[in-house]
Amino acid sequence: MTQSDFSSLPLNSNLLKSVASLGYESMTAIQAQSLPHILAGQDVIGQGKTGSGKTAAFALGMLEKLEVERYCIQSLVLCPTRELADQVTKEIRKIARTTPNVKVLTLCGGVPLRSQSESLQKGAHIIVGTPGRVEDHLNKENLKLNFVSTLVLDEADRMLEMGFQPALDAIIDKVPRPRQTLLFSATYPDQIGAIAKRVMVKPVMVKVDSTHDSNSIRQHFYKVDDDAHRMTALRLLLLQHQPESALVFCNTKKDAQEVADRLSHYGFSAFALHGDLEQKDRDQILVRFSNKSISILVATDVAARGLDIDSLDAVINYHIARDSEVHIHRIGRTGRAGNKGVAHSLYSEKENHKVSLLGEYLDRSIGNDSLPSSSVLKESPVRPTMTCLQIDGGKKQKLRPGDILGALTGEYGIEGNQVGKIQIFDKRAYVGVHRDAAKAALKKLLEGKLKGRSFRVRMIS
Ligand code: ADP
Ligand code: MG
Repeated sequence: MTQSDFSSLPLNSNLLKSVASLGYESMTAIQAQSLPHILAGQDVIGQGKTGSGKTAAFALGMLEKLEVERYCIQSLVLCPTRELADQVTKEIRKIARTTPNVKVLTLCGGVPLRSQSESLQKGAHIIVGTPGRVEDHLNKENLKLNFVSTLVLDEADRMLEMGFQPALDAIIDKVPRPRQTLLFSATYPDQIGAIAKRVMVKPVMVKVDSTHDSNSIRQHFYKVDDDAHRMTALRLLLLQHQPESALVFCNTKKDAQEVADRLSHYGFSAFALHGDLEQKDRDQILVRFSNKSISILVATDVAARGLDIDSLDAVINYHIARDSEVHIHRIGRTGRAGNKGVAHSLYSEKENHKVSLLGEYLDRSIGNDSLPSSSVLKESPVRPTMTCLQIDGGKKQKLRPGDILGALTGEYGIEGNQVGKIQIFDKRAYVGVHRDAAKAALKKLLEGKLKGRSFRVRMIS
């Protein structure tokens, strides 16, 4: 047993069974550093990049402490967006699988309040929600927090960035003390320090820099017969796995363009990224990929260099890379610490030489995994959940993210959790908006004012 074994922790056997069944062989760095304190009941501030395994850290703490037979809300987790709340709920449910009768309820926008208040009446142990919606339920007195003993602020920096400070203050005010407060954040701006000081008691600070290595990436290799089969194989993989963000690598500009064109033809949200694009188009594609209004980027190695995007669901090598180091570099974009990335690589007979060199380099044998069954070709490609709005104003006009967020979520506006990434350039700004709210968002920006004036706004998709 080493220090990073889950079994070194005072966890009950159900939870130990659960982490084992999830394939979590050892703790990630942030888990190893925070869990002893969390399980001892202390307040903890955890700082670490996306994918460092923060959810399991607080989920285990919460579940270890949970008294299932007491039918009341014992833990409240606040997250900045609906997507994150859904992810956190999923992870908690996975870890709670071995503990019978644990009820986890998500409270986010996009669903009528009424149906949520009905679920609330049926009772829950753990609530995961966005500040806006949780506050709504508190105001309507649907939600009672008097028995909450664990409060989690997940992605606290993002919540503040999105303007949730007043909602957070109102909610935290209703959570009784003494309690355990856990705060997680990727960054640690002053504002976080201030909130921690107000709502936490002698918090332990845990900070890890995340790194990744190629061992944490699941690699699959598929042998294809010819170019036509290669294209079909790519479609099969995309349809089967439905990645929200995937990067497909090609060895040449020509291939990248052709593959992107073919994918668009089949209805995928795919764009090429290579050196022949105009700077303006290139910027726009990168912005849209990062705000998730484009789901597939088909890139050459050189063009992908400037790409600074975490948490890609998959990297697909349309051809095996020129050399093994390039391969490692490509697939490293999907593997984050504690987060098993997935890389799919296609190769044909002609690439046998590169494949055997790669096998030696990786010190593993490269086989031929089976491709998804061709029945998935009947399915239609998933559309991106986000839409991108372009505003013809930027830094020159002194626009800041808060102005845009405020205009979108103000009176009769859309919910904060439907707003995604906001990026501001010299003369332009882009904001990702949940597809369901896109029309309303566009209307709001067109009718309203930003910094006291109107700007041209359009939806690009
Ligand atoms: P964060 O909140 O830090 O961004 P997550 O909690 O979402 O990261 O975790 C990222 C991924 O890592 C999830 O898919 C989760 O299932 C996985 N994971 C968490 N802990 C471990 C572990 N100890 N070993 C392997 N995978 C893990
Ligand atoms: Mg997280």
